[in-house]
Amino acid sequence: MASEPKTLLEAIQYFSDAENCRQFMISIRWPDGIVKCPYCGKENPAWMPKAKLYFCSAKHEKQKFSLKVGTIFEESPIRLEKWLPAAWLIVNCKNGISSYEVARAIGVTQKSAWFMMHRLREALAGAGITVKMGGPDREPIEIDETGVGPLPHRMHRSRRLKLQTAITQRTHKVQVMGMLDRETRQVRAQVIPNVKRETLQNVILNHIEGGATIYTDQFNAYDRLPAAKEFIHETVNHMQEYVRGQVHTQGIENFWSLLKRTLRGTYVAVEPFHLERYVAEQVFRFNNHATKENPLNDSDRFIVAMMQVVGKRLTYAELTGKQSERPAN
Ligand SMILES: [Zn+2]
Repeated sequence: MASEPKTLLEAIQYFSDAENCRQFMISIRWPDGIVKCPYCGKENPAWMPKAKLYFCSAKHEKQKFSLKVGTIFEESPIRLEKWLPAAWLIVNCKNGISSYEVARAIGVTQKSAWFMMHRLREALAGAGITVKMGGPDREPIEIDETGVGPLPHRMHRSRRLKLQTAITQRTHKVQVMGMLDRETRQVRAQVIPNVKRETLQNVILNHIEGGATIYTDQFNAYDRLPAAKEFIHETVNHMQEYVRGQVHTQGIENFWSLLKRTLRGTYVAVEPFHLERYVAEQVFRFNNHATKENPLNDSDRFIVAMMQVVGKRLTYAELTGKQSERPAN
């Protein structure tokens, strides 16, 4: 096997070889190198090189299976030789990439590229959220929320009219809440249904350890956090000051500007329904950018992302709310 790729060009060349794709998938799915049947768990199914499928000798349905089964690639007609370079592109581009660019780079239709990118974003979501952030004697957590709205000038007239109605009803902006851990420099962010006290505080309780120091602006939904959790809550008044010594929310605000720049520059029209996945992509990019302490390169970042593809799936029906129109390629 040739050595693993370090650049986009090497990745495209490397993954154009089906055997390299197979070995790569084995290495991320089974670190011990032993392939296991996704249906019954039996080890070492037979590899059928012509069909490019495995065969499990245990008696059950679907004895033949590909390495895509049980991953976000399951049931996709697109080969791993295209999926893997597409994943490389999306995790390593600095400011986002459009489905048109991906389509051109790997040779699929724009519609297929759009679908592939949403599946990949789904895989990037929820990375490393098994433990809470912060806690006593740790650096503070910055918390903030922002509204993400559509761009009327980019819209077709019929959508603009719908937007007008939404503005009248004050439902045109989707709210996103974010938290930046100053100790680990990691961000978590999610779409929230509203900015009520209960909603914001539930997110805080789900993600932040009691006793943590938290910084917010003076939005009153952050007041009266449960006393039992012993949060140390400091606020900055954005009407008078942006920074009060250490007390500010500029880290998370920087994240918002990166998110909005990506949405504006690359993703022409983002439906609120899809925003969660664009946020996940930006969180992944922010949390996995190279720093002095954490000098990740493109190859490392790709592997971090690919470790998450196992066990995650997003079907076209879930994505579009439609049952038909599966893109073939
Ligand atoms: Zn089996």
